[in-house]
Amino acid sequence: MLGKTHAAASVCAGFGLAVAVAENPLTGAVIIGKSWLGSLLPDIDHKNSKISKKLKLTGFIVRLFTGHRALFHNPLLYAAVYAALWHFRPDLAKFLIPLFMGIGTHLFLDALTPMGVPILPNRRLHMGNIRTGSSVEHAIYSLLIVAGFGISVWGAVVRGLL
Ligand SMILES: [Zn+2]
Repeated sequence: MLGKTHAAASVCAGFGLAVAVAENPLTGAVIIGKSWLGSLLPDIDHKNSKISKKLKLTGFIVRLFTGHRALFHNPLLYAAVYAALWHFRPDLAKFLIPLFMGIGTHLFLDALTPMGVPILPNRRLHMGNIRTGSSVEHAIYSLLIVAGFGISVWGAVVRGLL
């Protein structure tokens, strides 16, 4: 999936979480930002991704050990990291919920592509056949933009701003 589709999905999810739990607009914006940041992380294994261009050395080191849509696209890696965080540092785990939510939106969208995401050795999670940059992806992106607008209006109504 394209970066803009990952961004739109993570911002939508962030909006939803912010409406549900944020105490004020600033904490809401932080939640949305963490979700967006999380949506960037799995593509650290891709040379031309936004995050690899920002973190060149980190991206280079990651790519020495793993290929694109390999370890850093495995949902079990993030589940294990989150479980360990929850066990050893529940405060940090709670703080990072939006980040892991953004990672989850990224992995879900990539699982909808023909390549899918790895889940076990020689097993990929493959839930769709949507090609990157296809008209179907552009339709999903458009729906996410409409959903994001809808969630923000819903949030404003729920918070008594409209
Ligand atoms: Zn990806």
